[in-house]
Amino acid sequence: MPSYKELLKRAKEALPHTEVAKDRFQVPEAKVLHEGSTTVLRNFADICDVINRDSQQVFAYLLRELGTSGTIDERRVLFKGRMPTSQIDERIGSYVEEYVLCSECGRPDTRIIKEDRIAILECDACGARRPLKVVKRATKVEEEGLQEGKVYEVMIQDIGKKGDGIAKKDKYIIYVPGTIKGAIVKVRIEKVVGTIAFGKIARD
Ligand SMILES: [Zn+2]
Repeated sequence: MPSYKELLKRAKEALPHTEVAKDRFQVPEAKVLHEGSTTVLRNFADICDVINRDSQQVFAYLLRELGTSGTIDERRVLFKGRMPTSQIDERIGSYVEEYVLCSECGRPDTRIIKEDRIAILECDACGARRPLKVVKRATKVEEEGLQEGKVYEVMIQDIGKKGDGIAKKDKYIIYVPGTIKGAIVKVRIEKVVGTIAFGKIARD
């Protein structure tokens, strides 16, 4: 009869190694269906759960990479346009590569932390850290139009006769007092009339 100690040792040796654990990390394949000119990613929330990332961030990344707009609909995402499943899988893959997997040890046990406004991917498994590219929040607002009360970053392209800065965004012309040509400013929209909007520099 092996002693208790020996049994314990054998049990420990039989425990899976980290490499086995790594193989177990599997990003779910995108479950996609097309409804007219809309592409539905049915298991979006499941994917975010598995990769353990903020759904808003994943959403913003996918919109940017797919070059479209969309909405989160509970656990699904609706993309505008017909996107092939392979393309969505590919983009999710590149997100995981960039924002989830540790580039040193390859494991997914990472966290995104902020330090001095810089996002850093920190690995719990090996301690490696690397800075992350910032994902700019894509918005569906551009599709819907400017919204009063919201802040947009625009470039002042010209100065009007009355001295107001003029910026263009999609179909809109935005008048912004107190600025100069060429400035990139954050503007809070105060009023929208048709395709003309009036805003003020937003101070934060
Ligand atoms: Zn690592």
